[in-house]
Amino acid sequence: MSLPPRLVVVSGPSGVGKGTLVNKVIASHPEVVHSVSCTTRAPRPGEIDGADYRFVDDETFRGLVSSGALLEWARVHGAHYGTPEAQVDEALAAGHPIILEIDVQGGIAIREKRPDALLIFIEPPTMEELARRLMGRGTETEAEVARRLMNAVGEMEMAPLYDVRIVNDDADRAATELACEMAKA
Ligand code: ADP
Ligand code: 5GP
Repeated sequence: MSLPPRLVVVSGPSGVGKGTLVNKVIASHPEVVHSVSCTTRAPRPGEIDGADYRFVDDETFRGLVSSGALLEWARVHGAHYGTPEAQVDEALAAGHPIILEIDVQGGIAIREKRPDALLIFIEPPTMEELARRLMGRGTETEAEVARRLMNAVGEMEMAPLYDVRIVNDDADRAATELACEMAKA
């Protein structure tokens, strides 16, 4: 069963498993488009420019903001991130659902600009498990992990503003729940 064209926002604290769940949904529903954001953060080892993110410098990012190319943008964990609007409209016009994996500021901005978007918040089973996942991923320094865990508290407070909350206890179960929510009209 293919999923209907819809703008879907997936938010949740860093390390909760957003990328893992979105990849699982795309593996079982290849029609789903994963929006590629622009960011001023440095690429992590193994990240591919144009696939994981479009990595840009501060000046290029400012240009994208001032030309109105971004549907939303925010400063998150010390870097800038933004969603190019054109790729969202192209996906929807072609009949594809598109997932924006963005922070809570971005999610709230999308709610204002695109009221028909579906906002999904991914929660960890516990904060201890969130810390374990973030450290286990091994992609951030200890200081960066601490910063992301501190930010997680504020992010979790925004969960009630979202349409749906999914606890990422078991990744396969949570990915199935995500796909079910996306299937609803
Ligand atoms: P995010 O995109 O939210 O920052 P990731 O998808 O990178 O998070 O997941 C963070 C880490 O947690 C990864 O190492 C991933 O393999 C692991 N992970 C994701 N979901 C689960 C789960 N349900 N149970 C245990 N580990 C998980
Ligand atoms: P990371 O550096 O771990 O890839 O992402 C850090 C945070 O930035 C995550 O919460 C992620 O969802 C968020 N993010 C990624 N792209 C965007 C975007 O385009 N806009 C906004 N607002 N947040 C984003």
